[in-house]
Amino acid sequence: MTTAQVVNPATEQIVSEVELFGVAETDAAIERAHRAAADWREVAPGDRARLLRRFAEAVDANLERLARLEVANAGHTIGNARWEAGNVRDVLHYVAGIPERLLGSQIPVAGGVNITFHEPLGVVGVIVPWNFPMPIAAWGFGPALAAGNTVVLKPAELTPLTAIRLGELALEAGLPEGVFQVLPGKGSVVGQRFVTHPAVRKVVFTGSTEVGKAIMAGCAQQVKRVTLELGGKSANIVFADADVERAAATAPYGVFDNAGQDCCARSRILVQRSIFDRFLELLEPAVRGIRVGDPSDEATEMGPLISAAHRERVAAFVEPSTEIAFTGTRRDGPGFWYPPTVVLPGAPTERILTEEVFGPVVAVLPFDDEADALRIANDSEYGLSGSIWTSDVGRALRVSRGVEAGNLSVNSHSSVRYWTPFGGFKQSGLGRELGPDAALAFTETKNVFIAAS
Ligand code: NAD
Repeated sequence: MTTAQVVNPATEQIVSEVELFGVAETDAAIERAHRAAADWREVAPGDRARLLRRFAEAVDANLERLARLEVANAGHTIGNARWEAGNVRDVLHYVAGIPERLLGSQIPVAGGVNITFHEPLGVVGVIVPWNFPMPIAAWGFGPALAAGNTVVLKPAELTPLTAIRLGELALEAGLPEGVFQVLPGKGSVVGQRFVTHPAVRKVVFTGSTEVGKAIMAGCAQQVKRVTLELGGKSANIVFADADVERAAATAPYGVFDNAGQDCCARSRILVQRSIFDRFLELLEPAVRGIRVGDPSDEATEMGPLISAAHRERVAAFVEPSTEIAFTGTRRDGPGFWYPPTVVLPGAPTERILTEEVFGPVVAVLPFDDEADALRIANDSEYGLSGSIWTSDVGRALRVSRGVEAGNLSVNSHSSVRYWTPFGGFKQSGLGRELGPDAALAFTETKNVFIAAS
């Protein structure tokens, strides 16, 4: 096996060296998962539920260690990293309710009895990006395991450490060998093999729209099931009748959380023209006030970007001609730092308005009325998330129905709750994760008719 170095993005120090799976090791792991699937689906529902709860408890007992590992590997703030490890625990507890409630139906028909079953698919391949290594992994493996599938999981090249630890915790919790395996490696090697190996019956991919399209095309060769969670260019729409102080004070957290490396980042702030100047006046101190620094410091609100290459990509969006309204704290020294940056775009075709930056850069632009706000918000290939700030309930409902996006919040910036479905419209994705129906994405519906005579 070849190895890859894992780098702390806040210090540029090497944290660890990880062995990368090649094609042969990937095939062997998929074979193990395939063999394990036959027994795992037969584990009694109550026992499968108990094992998932034990897994959740093992994560809880290791919460602080997992969080510290994520701070070192991904540069996440310690507060965020604790939330992320806690989210894995909560998702596991939530999906532990699935095995005993995976209800089929009995449908009235003539001449006999008709019943449906939700059968597991077999082996599920989960491909994870580097921006939220723990939660995104769990949203895939949690419901997949609960529904009776086995899982092979490929973490991102840059952030494999917490996923590797989760794989160990699953075994310590008593999940049988081969049921949940973590395969660090390259997308073009391990991830690609999930697409082409016939024993992998579904691929859950979270990452860029570009790679997601290639995965979808590859999966088509075997009519392989696929869930895609892709990019975003979400709008935060602030109406003049909103609590403007609160909207401005919270707007930075809707886009700069995780240094903007968030598919749900509200990277376009649309402000009604009559309050545009006032909003910018209020936004400036909020942006300057964001505490950028050592992610292990409890008070820090924003850490570094994931890598030097990614910082270059982010910086390229701010061109010499780009009008910068103001920036937040700029940090020097080692680490892949980039300041929170607020820009005022010119033409609607500018890259800063159409492409996902995936960094702490936000564009603020005015709109005239409700129809104009919807037109601008929907003028995007993406449709993942968004926020609406207004004190008018009717408007909140109308605009929520009008925005073409999968996850909206009114007078807040929340996108992900494990109780509710998550996913994108248009090129932001295909399918939904989480919520009460999460398991159905990991099953086939089987219909059985039994003649009564
Ligand atoms: P990426 O597409 O480069 O990589 C994502 C994963 O896919 C990595 O594990 C990578 O190794 C793997 N991969 C790369 N090429 C592959 C191939 N040819 N075959 C199979 N696997 C391959 O994305 P990234 O840069 O790691 O993550 C950032 C992107 O993820 C952003 O666009 C962001 O919006 C998106 N994202 C979406 C969501 C969502 O839920 N919609 C959540 C987080 C991130």
